[in-house]
Amino acid sequence: MVYTLPKLPYPYNALEPHMDEETVRIHHDMHHNGYVSGLNNAMDKLREARGKQDFALIKHWERELAFHGAGHFLHTLYWESMSPEGGGQPSGKLARQIDEDFGSFETFRKEFSAAAAAVEGSGWALLVYLPEEKRLGILTVEKHQNQLLPGVVPIMALDVWEHAYYLKYKNKRADFIQNWWNLVNWKGIEYRLEDECSGCRCSGC
Ligand code: MN
Repeated sequence: MVYTLPKLPYPYNALEPHMDEETVRIHHDMHHNGYVSGLNNAMDKLREARGKQDFALIKHWERELAFHGAGHFLHTLYWESMSPEGGGQPSGKLARQIDEDFGSFETFRKEFSAAAAAVEGSGWALLVYLPEEKRLGILTVEKHQNQLLPGVVPIMALDVWEHAYYLKYKNKRADFIQNWWNLVNWKGIEYRLEDECSGCRCSGC
């Protein structure tokens, strides 16, 4: 077992009332855990194939690896993108970068909400940092494996698969998104951006 399910960074009921305990429990213990198991299984099967020198099913296992690997990675970022003490507005470098790249926090919030609402079927909205261009961007991701701009660093994730909101919000994804802003862990996202910048070689950070 290479990968393990990370513990939630807060109790199951800590995101109430915006996100209900039952949704968080099922989402973390069942859905996220399923991706961790699937990822370990794909790694095992690829190791077996290597041992046998038999790559007939390589396409299948590479797809499984991408699907479960992206699911595990993005769910981990999703849990960390929220906090019981979240909400409000970002500060420091993150706030300045958002102003520079989106015009204002309000415009960013509208654009991110619209992007999340517009994801077809299952998927994600991500705030990403583009190290080469030293700017922030928004990406939407269908399912999770059909992406990504190579080289970008996701620093905030919003899960808009139905399992993330259906128990409480039913088909009202826009209401879920609107309330989700009350949970955003700006401090954690700011640290993630600063980590990226401290590792880069430009003189502007
Ligand atoms: Mn999910």
